[in-house]
Amino acid sequence: MSARPTTHSPSHELPPLPYAEDALAPVISARTVGLHHGKHQRGYVDTLNKLIAGTPYAEMRLEDIITATAGQADEVPVFNNAAQAWNHDFYWKSLRPDGGGVPPLSIRPLIEASFESVDACNAMLADAAIKHFGSGWAWLVLERGKLKVITTVNAEVPATRGLRPLLAIDVWEHAYYLDWENRRPEHVRAVIDRLVDWGFAADNLG
Ligand code: MN
Repeated sequence: MSARPTTHSPSHELPPLPYAEDALAPVISARTVGLHHGKHQRGYVDTLNKLIAGTPYAEMRLEDIITATAGQADEVPVFNNAAQAWNHDFYWKSLRPDGGGVPPLSIRPLIEASFESVDACNAMLADAAIKHFGSGWAWLVLERGKLKVITTVNAEVPATRGLRPLLAIDVWEHAYYLDWENRRPEHVRAVIDRLVDWGFAADNLG
């Protein structure tokens, strides 16, 4: 293992997938995962490195670049690429083979307190992901001790709204189009039923 500094990252690296490229099939094919991680996510990381080379951002952690550039009209490209690099790392961790199912007891009572049931939570997350217009993300987030479903547009992240993300679903077309074409609803329901990693969501409660 190479030690990777957390406070000084002159060049951001593409984080490895937490599982094999074919691990999410058939819901998300190896081809989609390979392109999504190896081309799209890598593109955000590479573009970010080019944009920040020789600037003060080159010395900053990804999270700090996002915070520093959010809402800054002259830093939109840096924000977009930094946020998308972060979002994709979080997205892969939000999924796992044989996911979905019953959330662990460390989060289930909070789900029930926030949505009445796990089924209602899943339905709300699916509805948000399906109805989001255009590119973006559906999130399960923590806000003042309660869970909530939100969507963000394009590269936007929950953290800039003061929300702690627990799970992410990518609803950009590149996330599902090769496998599901225009059937985003079926893709989203399959992701929620079969891939979401409730253990990761529970870990993010902190
Ligand atoms: Mn994506």
